Amino acid sequence: MNIGRHISSTGGYESMANLTIELGGNTFQFFTRNPRGGQAKKVGPKDIEKFLKISKEKEFSKIVAHAPYTFNLCSANESVRDFTKRTMIDDIKRMEYIPGNYYNFHPGSHTGQGIEKGIEMISQSLNEIISDEQSTIVLLETMSGKGSEVGGKFEQLREIIERVDIKDKIGVCLDTCHIHDAGYDIVNDFDGVLDEFDSVIGLDRLKAIHLNDSKNVCASRKDRHEKIGKGYIGEEAIQKIVNNGRIKHLPFLLETPHEDLIGYKEEIKFVKSMRK
Ligand code: FE
Ligand code: FE
Ligand code: ZN
Repeated sequence: MNIGRHISSTGGYESMANLTIELGGNTFQFFTRNPRGGQAKKVGPKDIEKFLKISKEKEFSKIVAHAPYTFNLCSANESVRDFTKRTMIDDIKRMEYIPGNYYNFHPGSHTGQGIEKGIEMISQSLNEIISDEQSTIVLLETMSGKGSEVGGKFEQLREIIERVDIKDKIGVCLDTCHIHDAGYDIVNDFDGVLDEFDSVIGLDRLKAIHLNDSKNVCASRKDRHEKIGKGYIGEEAIQKIVNNGRIKHLPFLLETPHEDLIGYKEEIKFVKSMRK
């Protein structure tokens, strides 16, 4: 099983890979820069070389970089949009040191301009950001739809993708907590939700799973992650999700709240034990 978790680390790729191995995983997610959008993670050639060696030896699956939460391609504030665009271009350039991996971001919040305007701004910017030369695939994350968030419905993601010119560089990351909170009934009918994803977006676009339980009920539009098995999604539904034949091969990234490394480690072990 391709599993790992989001690591809050200021270290390099080698240290994140080693921590992942210690936790029992073979993939991980990390912020490209501090979550509030400042200084980028340093990329050293030695570090990259060591990381590539380790990930080959330990058969890592693709890894996921996560853009800072402050990014917003459809803010009403032009300087926020410009900053986001410039910084995403820089992030993707840095990702090319570890070719062929994923760069995940929250589509954005329209801040009162309306969903349609938001979708238009996001896709327009993506056309300035994504280039033919990049090997990195940009992932739109499914959102809970809280506030003025774009991406709480599969149709909204499809509309963005439809307007992006370079389609082979764009995919989707499905966050189980977010879609549950957005109103998709993954507890009783995960297969039905996947059918819907397939007919609206296409399952070939789905590249990664954020595996989280939720502190809130379905359709709450809240977005508060819970430890696996401890929330409203629950162990039984999560077991079905991790064993679903249509998504089994994807990297599963945990973004759950734990107090310490032991919590991380035990959760990965727990999820692996659910795999039949
Ligand atoms: Fe996210
Ligand atoms: Fe997520
Ligand atoms: Zn979330």
